[in-house]
Amino acid sequence: MAPTIIPRDKHSISRADISDNALKVLYRLRNAGYEAYMVGGGVRDLSLGREPKDFDVATDARPEEVRKLFRNCRLIGRRFRLAHVHFGPEIIEVATFRALREPDGDAEDHADGDRVYENGRLVRDNVYGTLAEDALRRDFTVNALYYNIDDFSVVDHAGGMEDLRAGVIRLIGEPEVRFREDPVRMLRAVRFALKLGFRIHPQTAAPIPALAETLADMPAARLFDEALKLFMSGMALEAFEMLRHHGLFDPLMPWTAETLEEEGEDRWVPFIAAALGNTDARIGADKPVTPAFLFAALLWPAVRRREQQLIDAGEPAVPALQQACAEVQALQQTRIALPKRFSIPMREIWTMQGRLARRGGKRALRLLAHPRFRAAYDFLELRAASGDAPEDLAQWWRAFQENPDKPPSQRPSSGRRRRGRSRRKKSGAATPTPEGDG
Ligand code: ATP
Ligand code: MG
Repeated sequence: MAPTIIPRDKHSISRADISDNALKVLYRLRNAGYEAYMVGGGVRDLSLGREPKDFDVATDARPEEVRKLFRNCRLIGRRFRLAHVHFGPEIIEVATFRALREPDGDAEDHADGDRVYENGRLVRDNVYGTLAEDALRRDFTVNALYYNIDDFSVVDHAGGMEDLRAGVIRLIGEPEVRFREDPVRMLRAVRFALKLGFRIHPQTAAPIPALAETLADMPAARLFDEALKLFMSGMALEAFEMLRHHGLFDPLMPWTAETLEEEGEDRWVPFIAAALGNTDARIGADKPVTPAFLFAALLWPAVRRREQQLIDAGEPAVPALQQACAEVQALQQTRIALPKRFSIPMREIWTMQGRLARRGGKRALRLLAHPRFRAAYDFLELRAASGDAPEDLAQWWRAFQENPDKPPSQRPSSGRRRRGRSRRKKSGAATPTPEGDG
């Protein structure tokens, strides 16, 4: 099929909006006799009047040929070989045109690089081709627009311009096949729909719930990257809701999903919504946010449920919480690989919840000096606001921080810790669980 060529005066992409480094890469490739295009988010976002996050380049030059042109160039990736051209902190990603898959799938090595499928999944794709082929193996139509540095036109092989105008995220080709090739595309569909305010085309959305579980087999490190993009976008709350709507939250965080199912929406959705809303507000106000806090909140329902199971089985409160934290973290790690710099503070935020409940004697002062106090206290406030912790406990810490020399008096706690809080209760707001007061 012939592509639609949109000449320079019929689209809104201007060289002034492209980073100098991306232009440098494009021109040097062209001047060396190669084809060179800006592709992906750069074209998509500039067409919408948005600022692209980064600039991606597509070319017919092989990775090794790209490397010869740029001193500051590194070849990366085995699954998908790419050239990264480094300019200080900015990286321009240069991809060589890929060939289309053959109709019946091919699993053989090729002389020219290689392409390997495993159970329909594309585990390696280094067979090179033409622009026309490259366009059709990209994920969404709006991501398959090419800005030609030679004449400043945009080349559209997949109907991306029309979908851009209509606000539609549409997978190129047969959705089920394309999602099986790479299940992460399901998460990308949600991410782009949210970011751009687009809707996912019904035919693209249709197979997602049935295929969602295929995400469980994806490398946990890749899912971490993708989860971070979804939840650190300033739209974490919408992301959570949209993921759940498409059945995609379950494979990412099955233990939280199970808890929501068993203990009821009312018990946990207010807490998660408060935590994610809080993160979004901070991002909106340019305040720092840490993935540790975000993941601590998303996994907290599972921690609490496991803690309660252990307590019901006779385990004392302190080791029950410790063990629940360890178990949930270890399980979750098999789906989303949190780097230690996030998982360690996440654990501290959790275990501090137990310590914040025991505030007698010198304990409170020691906790105040703890490097994770602030995050743990913020977490406690969110719990109190959604009925997962006693409001007077949060109040106590609020007052104590203002005046650490004069600890507020502790209201006598209402009796002993109740065992076996009823988890089957379907209606009504969550009952605050009385915390041990040491
Ligand atoms: P952003 O950079 O804003 O997240 P982007 O569209 O540029 O969005 P990248 O991850 O930078 O996304 O990828 C660049 C381009 O590479 C995409 O626009 C798309 O054309 C192609 N691409 C990326 N990931 C995939 C994938 N999993 N399957 C098919 N094509 C992909
Ligand atoms: Mg990009």
